[in-house]
Amino acid sequence: MTARNPERYKIETLAIHAGQAPDPATGAVMTPIYQTSTFVQQGVGEHKGYEYARTGNPTRTALEACLAALEGAAHGLAFASGMAAIDTLLKVFDPGDHVLAGNDVYGGTFRLFDKQYKKYGIEFSYVETTDLEAVRAALRPNTRWVWLETPTNPRLKVADLRAIAQAAHDHDPAVRVVVDNTFATPYLQQPLALGADVVVHSTTKYLGGHSDVVGGAVLTSDPQLHARLAFLQNAAGAVPGPLDCFLVLRGIKTLAVRMERHGENGLAVAQFLADHPQVAEVIYPGLESHPQHALARRQMRNAGGMVSFFVRGGPGAARALVARTRLFALAESLGGVESLIELPAAMTHGSTQGSPLEVDAGLIRVSVGLEHKDDLIADLAQALHSL
Ligand code: PLP
Repeated sequence: MTARNPERYKIETLAIHAGQAPDPATGAVMTPIYQTSTFVQQGVGEHKGYEYARTGNPTRTALEACLAALEGAAHGLAFASGMAAIDTLLKVFDPGDHVLAGNDVYGGTFRLFDKQYKKYGIEFSYVETTDLEAVRAALRPNTRWVWLETPTNPRLKVADLRAIAQAAHDHDPAVRVVVDNTFATPYLQQPLALGADVVVHSTTKYLGGHSDVVGGAVLTSDPQLHARLAFLQNAAGAVPGPLDCFLVLRGIKTLAVRMERHGENGLAVAQFLADHPQVAEVIYPGLESHPQHALARRQMRNAGGMVSFFVRGGPGAARALVARTRLFALAESLGGVESLIELPAAMTHGSTQGSPLEVDAGLIRVSVGLEHKDDLIADLAQALHSL
């Protein structure tokens, strides 16, 4: 299968085959790790499509084609991290451009907007993306980009991608809607099919899936934007190495089955927490109590593996709880096979302190992994019991 005809296949099949024809040189079924920095030329400029590995590497090409196929995009580019992917996209923005972003985004994304790109004359403002009228009202004459996460990190708000993309394009057809699809993955949610223009990923998370690699990607069907991003990928060089590309490709092969189980375990953990007397509030789009539950059911295949919650006793009790789980490891990141727990305000979202995006100090975020749900629930039960 080539990336040219992926639309004939379903996502489970694309995850295993897209961009990954057996190696033409040897017949190797798995895409080889082309661990080389340069490629021999038969004459000046005469080569087999590869010159220098910052510009292109066959293992990276396979990953880029696979990711593009999964998101239904014409083009894909892989980067050294999710932040490198986001940074490359931000380099396309011009001084005077206005970026309308959700008011709950990954702390590192906010930090890059606020501490770096604002000083280049790019305007950022933040809006409640669960409120379509608020989004419409916040679009400005110079709005060029709408930046969305859904579900958001860490409050798990769900934005209506179809409605927001429509509103943004009605406002000005030149506006580009960017969706960070890291939490949902293309298995659970397809932003481009819903009208978005660009998808970004931290492939470090569910796509890699095993907490053993850092990576990122940008996917789009816009040929001009892709050409500009490909120029920047080569010119600035924030590229992933071939081993990292291989690890993400290998992780993606099991994406569909992993995401099914992440969703099942996520729901089981959320239901357990919702019934627990020590828990004050649970935020999980798969629970009927979630304000955008109906939208999440429409827009996502399942509600995924991320659950946020508050315990009774405030930030002090939250700190005590995250230190007492045994299976849920206290660590940043998410989306791996193993379960993780963290306090966003003090860890992943420290940079939002004092900003309109500041995260409540007592909010606990868990990435529910693929262990047996009974063991995960027992672990949370013992930690809650000892509060
Ligand atoms: N986007 C989201 C939603 C994230 O959660 C993260 C990291 O946690 C990133 C982007 C950044 O990705 P990376 O850590 O691979 O640079």
